[in-house]
Amino acid sequence: MSDHRLQDALDALKSTRVRMTPQRHAILEFLYESMTHPTADDIYKALEGRFPNMSVATVYNNLRVFKEAGIVKELTYGDASSRFDSVTSDHYHVICGDCGKIVDFHYPGLDEVETLAEHVTGFKVHNHRMEIYGTCPKCQNEAKH
Ligand SMILES: [Zn+2]
Ligand SMILES: [Zn+2]
Repeated sequence: MSDHRLQDALDALKSTRVRMTPQRHAILEFLYESMTHPTADDIYKALEGRFPNMSVATVYNNLRVFKEAGIVKELTYGDASSRFDSVTSDHYHVICGDCGKIVDFHYPGLDEVETLAEHVTGFKVHNHRMEIYGTCPKCQNEAKH
């Protein structure tokens, strides 16, 4: 399943004529396999052993290329580091307030909220973002001990 998604992403990248490098491939592979919505720093830390010449800036640049190619989504959190998501279809996120873990949550798009917002405010609505906050099972478990 994740191999198939990674292959689709590689094909999409190829069609935008982005040159594939071993680093680029490793970053993309990490994103698609980890499913943890990592920050650029997380990716850097996971891969620096394999690519001693790689910098956090390299990771950022590659993520920007992927974003432009439409194969990753950036989730911004004000001043905090962006997280990167390999699932680009619409979905919602459940976020652990203790450890920051982000888990995908599939739910029919709340499109009527957009229609209502347009209706009430006169805005042309482009998208919406909903996040659910709580405590993940691991943190709940740790709290008990
Ligand atoms: Zn947690
Ligand atoms: Zn996600």
